[in-house]
Parts: sequence; C-alpha cells; structure tokens
Amino acid sequence: MALIVHKYGGTSMGSTDRIRNVAKRVAKWVRAGHQMVVVPSAMSGETNRLLGLAKELAPGQVTPEVMREMDMIAATGEQVSVGLLAIALQAEGVASVSYTGWQVPVRTDSSYTKARIESIDDARVREDLAAGKVVVIAGFQGIDEEQNITTLGRGGSDTSAVAIAAAMKADECLIYTDVDGVYTTDPRIVPEARRMNRISFEEMLEMASLGSKILQIRSVEFAGKYRVPLRVLSSFTPWDIDIHEEAASGTLITFEEDENMEQAIVSGIAFSRDEAKVTLLGVPDKPGIAFQILGPVAEANIDVDVIIQNVSNDGKTDFSFTVHRNDYARAMELLQQKVGPATNAGQVLGDPKICKVSIVGIGMRSHVGVASKMFRALSEEGINIQMISTSEIKTSVVIDEKYMELAVRALHKAFDLDQAAISA
Ligand code: ADP
Ligand code: ASP
Ligand code: MG
Repeated sequence: MALIVHKYGGTSMGSTDRIRNVAKRVAKWVRAGHQMVVVPSAMSGETNRLLGLAKELAPGQVTPEVMREMDMIAATGEQVSVGLLAIALQAEGVASVSYTGWQVPVRTDSSYTKARIESIDDARVREDLAAGKVVVIAGFQGIDEEQNITTLGRGGSDTSAVAIAAAMKADECLIYTDVDGVYTTDPRIVPEARRMNRISFEEMLEMASLGSKILQIRSVEFAGKYRVPLRVLSSFTPWDIDIHEEAASGTLITFEEDENMEQAIVSGIAFSRDEAKVTLLGVPDKPGIAFQILGPVAEANIDVDVIIQNVSNDGKTDFSFTVHRNDYARAMELLQQKVGPATNAGQVLGDPKICKVSIVGIGMRSHVGVASKMFRALSEEGINIQMISTSEIKTSVVIDEKYMELAVRALHKAFDLDQAAISA
C-alpha cells in the first residue's frame, strides 16, 4: 500500500462526464490498495470567468484590497470542483471527503494572487485516510495568518499537489493533464514536438521558470526541495487501463542523471508571452544608477527579469529591463512619474508586445557554440533579437511577440528536436 497524490487540471475536470472519469480512475487506485489524496483544479475556463467578473467591476485596479477580493472570488472555482469530485467518488462506492485549502489548512503568506505556501497541517487528512476515505483537497488556495483566503498564482494547483505530497511524504505525486507528458516544447505550437520519458529536475525547473505552462515553477521547486517523486501524465487515457501501465506512462521528473538519460545538448524550448519591456533612455552613467532604477521597482514588488545596460555615450546610457506583463502598467507609471525624473532620464519607453524564447539543456554546460547556433537559426528567419540572457543550462532571447511561434519552430528544428529527426 502506498500513499499517492493525484492532481487533475482544469480540462481533466472540465465537465461532469470528465469528473466521473476522474472518479473512476481514482477508484481503480483505491481498489489496488492505495491511500489517495486528490487535488483538482477548477473546471476549465472557470478561473478566467471568475477573474473576468472581478475585473469588470474593478478595471485596472490593483490595490491590496481588490487583490484580496480577487482571491476570495477565484478560490470558489476549486471549491466547486472538490465537492463535485467527492460526490462522484461516493457514486463509485468510494468513501470520500472534500476540503478547501483553509479547512486543511494550507497556510500561506499574504501575497494575494501569488501567495506562497508556508506550511500544511496534515492531521485531519491523515485521520480521514486512516478511516479509509479518499481526501479531495482544493488546489490553488490557502489561508494567511489573518484568516484571509489566498491563491497561489495561475497554475497553482500543481504546487498545492506537490506541497501536499511533500508534507505527507507521499510515495508519488502524479500530475494528470490534457497532454501525455512533458514534451520538447508545447505540442500545441510544434506538432513535431516529442514526449520525453524522463526529464532531469534541473531542466524541468528551467523549462517551468522560462514559461512552460505544463508545471507551475513552484511545484517543481517543492519537488526538488523535498525530493517528491513527480510524474506528468494524461487524464485522457481510458480510466480502466492497466494500473501498472498507467503508473509508468508520461514523463518522470528525475533527480539523478543516469546513463539512460537522453543526451541531447538542448532538450527543450520554452517560451513566455507574459513579458513586457521598459527602457530608460539617456540616464547618467554613474555608479549606483542600476540601484537607483531597480531599487524602487523591487520596492513596488515588481519582479525584473532580463536586464540590459548599454555602453555609455557622452556620459549617458540606455537601461532596459523586462517585467511580467501584468506589472507593465505599474512599472511604466513608476518609471514615468518617479524613477525617470529622479535619475534625470531623457525618456521612458515601453513595449508590451515582446516575448521570451529560451533553449534549455544540461548538455549546454559542456558544449560551446550552442548560443551562436541559436542566433543563426533566428537570423535565418529574419528575427531580430532585442535582448539576450544566458546561464549555465539555458539561453533566452527577447524578441517581437509576433515572431514567437516562428522562433520556437525554427529552434526546435535547428536543435534536432523534431520527431522525424530523432527517428531518422
Ligand atoms: P492543467 O489544466 O492540466 O494544469 P495546463 O494548461 O496548465 O493544464 O498545462 C498543460 C498544457 O501545457 C498543455 O496543454 C500544453 O499546451 C502546455 N505545454 C507547454 N509547454 C509544454 C511542454 N513542454 N510539454 C507539454 N505541454 C506543454
Ligand atoms: N484554477 C487555477 C488556474 O486556472 C489553478 C490551476 O488550474 O492550477 O490558474
Ligand atoms: Mg496547469
């Protein structure tokens, strides 16, 4: 008997028929003798619908008071899901009970809309498991010290599931979704993308942090910190397939490199549309200028990603950086009203229509010329690179958003990741 956590995403929970299927699948795992905790997301489209309603009443408002209510509203999506799934399980003859994040409780900090999990009290869940019940826990949500409802950021149910698995020392956490594993890039953009049987934890961490929506970055961080065995697999296989076959399907996130690991130099391409670029033209080039610009940005709780400072001309320089697109309006306001005047900048420019495309691979550590191959592939498509950022196992470029798909396809091909290239 093992303790297993299943997570089902929005599409997998998208209708009562699909919820029934989830229940049948979970019931199969129960019959095989396992203790089960199940973490579902809101039904597909529901979180967008709920946040859309809130935004209708508070267009452009991002005060802490509004953010608090956004979480209050968004959390209801998962509350509906857990209730429905618990009923569906009971209809399958499986004892089950559902909990919201605050009933568990999943304790978080107070950063509304992107809260971080601080601790999970699993006593109540353990009692239910011991009593033979399947415990269904709402993903994406928690509660802060002042008993306010919080949510964990988009895609946060992945993190709920892995954090619960970590807290309970589960034997495995299975992330069921609408694709059958982690691919070399999003298969919806590149149909030739290839599923990986295994991906190293480090590569998965980079892919997720560079925008791959398949797993929320914090779920991968949790898996790494607590060594949670993690697998991504499809919820669209027939629910009654052999349980051993199911348990070995999809993509395993591995913590050790073994000789069976695929030895590609570049193992995946990630991309993110959630980016925007801001530029201060003609700031005085003197010590402390980066701090004068980025200090107030950090104080405003705006995360900065890629940064470029140009060589100085007549004692002045241009300074650009990228931020999450959700923070673009606030960043521009801050630069125009405060940072620009304070640093005697010539002009503030903004471009929300950019994206970031990245190549990721552990093999890049030991190979030279990988970045230049990337730049050549992009230049052959006539794509202009606006910014570059590198680390040991990734190279990212910031480009015009309209070339994103072209860039991803070109790089996927250039690094021999297309299915045809592998089987040839
Ligand atoms: P869920 O609702 O199950 O959490 P998501 O939409 O959040 O599902 O994540 C699954 C989606 O991630 C897939 O449908 C796919 O389009 C996208 N995706 C992005 N990058 C990858 C990748 N490298 N491999 C597989 N899927 C990816
Ligand atoms: N329902 C939330 C979202 O749409 C959380 C999740 O699906 O993981 O972002
Ligand atoms: Mg998701």
